[in-house]
Amino acid sequence: MTPIVDIGANLTNRAFSRDLDQVIARAFAAGVGTIVVTGTTASASRDALALARTRPGRLYATAGVHPHHASEVDHGVIDELRALQQEPEIVAVGECGLDYDRDYSPRDAQRRAFAAQLALACDLGRAVFLHERSAHADFAAILREHRSAFPRGVVHCFTGSGDELDAYLELDMHIGITGWICDDRRGVHLRELVGRIPADRLMIETDAPYLLPRDLKPMPKNRRNEPGLLPHVLRAVARARGESVDAVASHTAATSRAFFGLPA
Ligand SMILES: [Zn+2]
Repeated sequence: MTPIVDIGANLTNRAFSRDLDQVIARAFAAGVGTIVVTGTTASASRDALALARTRPGRLYATAGVHPHHASEVDHGVIDELRALQQEPEIVAVGECGLDYDRDYSPRDAQRRAFAAQLALACDLGRAVFLHERSAHADFAAILREHRSAFPRGVVHCFTGSGDELDAYLELDMHIGITGWICDDRRGVHLRELVGRIPADRLMIETDAPYLLPRDLKPMPKNRRNEPGLLPHVLRAVARARGESVDAVASHTAATSRAFFGLPA
């Protein structure tokens, strides 16, 4: 099987502080060739960069501020994110976007922080790693305003409706699918929708330590997701698309490499 790419894993999360080396080793042993470590704040993005440097050519990172932390975004933070984008291991701006599900930051602060990071991506011609939860209309509107000026974007952990998917594809977004698709309650609609995503727009991810696939048997006792479980997501996506596991491994890896500009 082609080595697969986990386009989103929060490996600097403290859930991994005790056994990160084993977690990464298990992922590589399971056939995950490359992991893109998600940056969620300026300091977490610095940590993600430092981690990426420990496994050259296998770990990469994004640099951005998650909507939960939008209130922290000021000129200083944007300058810091701009500097991080110069590092070869940093492959996208993000994660950034809007999250109206939790509202950990006020919505106007979220919209400002999102627009500022999109403007940065436009300025530097960078790919963007996007988060949207319960905020489709505002999110799509802000995206549309900037769309002509940044090269590529991925709506990571897509869990929305068919209309929302169509809107993202129309904006020429890439789509990231997580283990949400394995959820027999919340993920069933995704199994129908995933076949609509063109192969050159589809990527897979764990979003570890979050979103442990709910159909794992046995369930890990600590309920922690990890990148070594990406093949489980891969198989669910292949089943839902009616494609072979090998085919989905190969086209999602090729799409991810092209998206993040990784060496073949
Ligand atoms: Zn996210």
